[in-house]
Amino acid sequence: MSERVFLSIGSNIGPRVANCTRAIELLAVQRRIVLVRKSPFYETSAWGKEDQPPFINCVVEVETTLEPLRLLDNLKKIESNMGRGPSERWGPRVIDLDIIFYGDRIVETRGLTIPHPHAHERGFVLIPLCCIAPDLVHPKLKKTVRELAGILKDTGVLRKVV
Ligand code: AMP
Repeated sequence: MSERVFLSIGSNIGPRVANCTRAIELLAVQRRIVLVRKSPFYETSAWGKEDQPPFINCVVEVETTLEPLRLLDNLKKIESNMGRGPSERWGPRVIDLDIIFYGDRIVETRGLTIPHPHAHERGFVLIPLCCIAPDLVHPKLKKTVRELAGILKDTGVLRKVV
């Protein structure tokens, strides 16, 4: 059975838009992942650790038959293929791929939390998500993406890029 999954993509080192585009291409060629739609790219100020360059962020919707941990493994492989080394928490990165929602599943294991624990407080996730799935309901908070985005005081979004 395939599941509807939302992934967040970000980059703040090197050619940031090209890095995000490359990550989407690498996702789309995976055998058990089908790319359904992608949000525009946004430039956003760094979240959590502000003394670093702004990010380019987007969100994609995919259909996949990969179970959450296998999907996470694949995302980590794409990150390392693209040259991402170990990085400090919330520090600069060539590419960052996160699982935001996996259907309406709730996963809480040591290496993986779904919905992503910070999704509901991050403008760089909610604003792009609003473009492609505003009525999606956060399975834990029971609020739509549009409602969650509306509560944010500061989205951190600087501009829409493309
Ligand atoms: P980051 O530095 O943001 O890429 O964090 C990566 C680590 O967060 C990974 O090694 C994952 O084990 C862990 N993690 C926990 N929940 C998630 C999630 N929903 N999506 C991606 N990584 C996650």
